[in-house]
Amino acid sequence: MVMKLDGISVAEMEELQKNIFFTTLEEVKAWARSNSLWPLTFGLACCAIEMMGVGSSHYDLDRFGSFFRTSPRQSDVMIVSGTVTKKMAPIVKRLYDQMPEPKWVIAMGSCATAGGPYINSYAVVKGVDQIIPVDVYIPGCPPNPAALIYGINKLKEKIRYEAKTGKQVTNK
Ligand code: SF4
Repeated sequence: MVMKLDGISVAEMEELQKNIFFTTLEEVKAWARSNSLWPLTFGLACCAIEMMGVGSSHYDLDRFGSFFRTSPRQSDVMIVSGTVTKKMAPIVKRLYDQMPEPKWVIAMGSCATAGGPYINSYAVVKGVDQIIPVDVYIPGCPPNPAALIYGINKLKEKIRYEAKTGKQVTNK
């Protein structure tokens, strides 16, 4: 005799458990967003050369669902790659403001993180987090494309973690 629960046999129940899973809408959205991050093409100095390398056939960022966009309105992640001068800072801020929510920022290299070799210069901002919020910092002068891919993957983890737990991960 086959045991049935609500008209479903034990074997059928086991089969269903392998094929049905439960989640939340926020987690599904985070999963989709984290797998289609579109960075704004935005280079400020030498680190930008390494950022461009990540789109080359060797590193092939496209395989992770990330495509560089030339408009802030089509982008959801800003990779600040290079020295942020005080003259450039208002433009960085304006481009960030033009990106739609939700949006994230990666500070690539020691200049974007904290001023780098120009930390004593009167003309350089000591880290882009003084003008916009930063989600991931990538050390190095410059970090290579593999380090940038690692940073992008860390951002994906952060997006999914925040959706799952409802907690905001901050660097402060
Ligand atoms: S961190 Fe080094 S490589 Fe990157 S922009 Fe600054 S000086 Fe150039």
